[in-house]
Amino acid sequence: AGTIKINHVSKIYPNGTIGLDNINLDIAAGEFVVIVGLSGAGKSTLLRAINRLHDVTTGDILIDGQDITKARGQELRHQRRDIAMIFQNFNLVKRATVARNVLAGRVGYYSTFKSAFGLFSKADRENAAKALQNVNMVEKYYTRADELSGGQQQRVAIARAMVQAPKVVLADEPIAALDPKNTKMVMDDLKRLNTDLGLTVIVNLHSVPLALEYATRIIGLKAGKLVYDKPIAAVSEHD
Ligand code: ADP
Ligand code: ADP
Repeated sequence: AGTIKINHVSKIYPNGTIGLDNINLDIAAGEFVVIVGLSGAGKSTLLRAINRLHDVTTGDILIDGQDITKARGQELRHQRRDIAMIFQNFNLVKRATVARNVLAGRVGYYSTFKSAFGLFSKADRENAAKALQNVNMVEKYYTRADELSGGQQQRVAIARAMVQAPKVVLADEPIAALDPKNTKMVMDDLKRLNTDLGLTVIVNLHSVPLALEYATRIIGLKAGKLVYDKPIAAVSEHD
C-alpha cells in the first residue's frame, strides 16, 4: 500500500496563476521520490494536492486506488490518515511538549482534540517514545517544542509522522531551513521511513546532489509542468 496515481492534474489558483499544468504520474509503493525544481515550479502545489490541503482544478489523484480529490467527510479524513506531511517550517505546536506534538500524529493530523486535553493511553505514550528513539530525540520527550533547534524540531515532526502510521510521507522542502549536519540527519530519518517501514516517500528539494544521494526516482517540475522523470539508475550526467 502507498501507491499514488496522478491523472491529468492541473491547478489554477483563483488569481489565475497556473500552479500545475496537466501532471500525470504513477508512483509505486515504497518509492523514494525527490521532486526538484526552482522556486515557483509547482512542487509545493503538487504535494498539497496529494493530501488535499487544497483542491485541484481538473484531474484526479488516486491513493491506493481511491480518488482523494473527490472524497468528503469521514472518507476524506480516513484517506488523509494514510498520508503524513512534513513542512519546511516544521509546523509544531510551539508551546507544547515534544511528546504532545508527537502524539498529535496518533489521532490523525486534523484532530487536535485529544492532544489538547492530553487524553493519551500508556500505549500511545510508549509509541511516542519509540518514534522519538528512532529520530534520536527521546531525551527531549518533556521539552517544549520552541526550545528545540530547527533540526531537532524537524526530527520531532518526523516522529509525529511515524506515530500517524501512514502509508505515504510527503515532505515539502524539509531541509530548507537547516544546516548541513541537520540536513543529513533529517534526510537519513526520511530514508529510514522508506527502507525500514516501507513507506512511499516524496520529498521536495532544491538540491540536485541531495536528490541523487537519496532518491530512487527523480522528478523535475518547471512552470507547473513535468519536465523530467527517471529512476535513479537511469539518471545521466548529461541530464
Ligand atoms: P516557496 O518559494 O517556498 O515555494 P512561496 O514564497 O512561493 O514559497 O510561497 C509562500 C506562501 O505564499 C505559500 O503559502 C504559497 O501558497 C503562497 N503564495 C505563493 N505565491 C503566491 C501568489 N502569487 N499569490 C498568493 N499566495 C502565494
Ligand atoms: P514551488 O513549491 O515549486 O516553489 P509552488 O507550488 O509554491 O512552487 O508555486 C507554483 C506557482 O503557483 C508559483 O507561480 C506560485 O507563485 C503560485 N502559487 C502558489 N501558491 C499560490 C496561491 N496561494 N495563490 C496564487 N498563486 C500561488
